[in-house]
Amino acid sequence: MAHSEPAKRLVIVGGGVAGLEIASTLGRQWRRQDGAPSITLVDREAAHVWKPMLHTIAAGTRDISQQQTTYLAQARDAGFSYRPGELCGLDREAREIRLAAQHAPDGRLLVPKSRLGYDVLVLATGSQANDFGTPGVAEHCWNIDSRRQADAFNGEVRIRLLQSLTQETPLHIAIVGGGATGVELAAELVQMVEAVTAYGARGLYERIDITLVEAGPRLLAGFPEDISSATRTRLEALGIRVLTDAQVSAATGEAFVMASGEELKATLKVWAAGVKGPEFLSDLDGLEANRNNQLVVGPTLQTTRDPAIYALGDCASLTPAGADRALAPTAQVAHQQAKYLIEALPRAMRGQPVRDFRYRDMGALVSLADYDAFGSLGQFGLFNGTTFRGRLAQVSHVMLYRSHQARIHGFWKGGLLWLVDRLNSRVRAPIRLD
Ligand SMILES: Cc1cc2nc3c(=O)[nH]c(=O)nc-3n(C[C@H](O)[C@H](O)[C@H](O)COP(=O)(O)OP(=O)(O)OC[C@H]3O[C@@H](n4cnc5c(N)ncnc54)[C@H](O)[C@@H]3O)c2cc1C
Repeated sequence: MAHSEPAKRLVIVGGGVAGLEIASTLGRQWRRQDGAPSITLVDREAAHVWKPMLHTIAAGTRDISQQQTTYLAQARDAGFSYRPGELCGLDREAREIRLAAQHAPDGRLLVPKSRLGYDVLVLATGSQANDFGTPGVAEHCWNIDSRRQADAFNGEVRIRLLQSLTQETPLHIAIVGGGATGVELAAELVQMVEAVTAYGARGLYERIDITLVEAGPRLLAGFPEDISSATRTRLEALGIRVLTDAQVSAATGEAFVMASGEELKATLKVWAAGVKGPEFLSDLDGLEANRNNQLVVGPTLQTTRDPAIYALGDCASLTPAGADRALAPTAQVAHQQAKYLIEALPRAMRGQPVRDFRYRDMGALVSLADYDAFGSLGQFGLFNGTTFRGRLAQVSHVMLYRSHQARIHGFWKGGLLWLVDRLNSRVRAPIRLD
């Protein structure tokens, strides 16, 4: 970056895995330094929930009120400013972002539209499922891409369960997408139904069926084959019907219509397939985007057409040198990129040179609720490609969340939050029953 004077205003849009880690860490560093740049974090939500746990919020096996971090409180704790707002446009010449007006569900204006100036802009607005324009999906399917969607889905699940219980009607649930989100949600729903049954909801278990639909030949395409097949076996043992090589061609109010012409009955339909960036990124004042609406970035995570604008995490597309495809949209990538920018941004904003980002594949983990978990070690380290399962994988999965909490809250507060969760698990019901 070529600034004659050090850049003074850092604006981060998106307080998710990547954005909140950067705002919290740099906020704590810079508040002790005289003349350090200001940090403003913009998010359209009022609170952060670690996205890889949204399926547990959706199933009701975790209580959202215990897992969310409100941005206002976090901003005060960590030394940055929070600005509620939804990014909808950009004026690169004026170095301003445009924020849309936000309304309450009843239509009242909450946040008027506005503009916000920056010297350096970091975009970390995440992604959403991609329905590839499949007819009926937008109208009839639930997504669990945000805290609000996961919570809304859980509200619907609780209504449907009660109906099924009191009216003795069957409940067909179908989830499209055999990636980590679909697999983890399916297992979590089984755990929820088992818990409700244990509270005395007799006959409910038998009236509910869950189907997981995947267009490709196997579940968890990004994992080694032995994990895919072991996961399938485990899900089937839990009573979940798994369909692979099964393409959905439309969704209706009551079913998925398969490419084969068959109908898959589904009262509750979840679309958890594909990943794309938010629509507004496809044409953000001339920034280069790929066909999945992700901003194309170079090795320092600067966007290809504007060095004052960085993008990372799910909303960015980075193809490492020598690789034939871009990095996958995972929390691991988002976190490593955040860690890199925490080091690189202070230097870049002072006009000093920075090294390139290097991704280290540390492997992947998938959790099947409390039943099981699977992991693979990445291409980095001694045990390249080794797979593991069971307790070790479950603990490793838990550690992903706990280390994220430690990064945003600090070691001690992160530890206390863990302790509170442990205590709550002793004294509270394991599912939402309200
Ligand atoms: C159910 C589920 C399970 C998953 N499990 C795993 C897993 O086990 N391992 C793994 O590596 N990955 C997993 N993932 C993927 C992982 O969650 C994402 O890769 C990761 O969250 C990406 O981080 P991010 O910071 O780019 O975006 P996010 O964490 O999604 O954060 C984006 C933020 O931007 C905000 N935002 C969006 N648009 C706007 C806007 N226009 N204006 C203002 N703010 C905006 C959002 O409110 C949000 O706070 C899972 C995803 C899901 C849904």
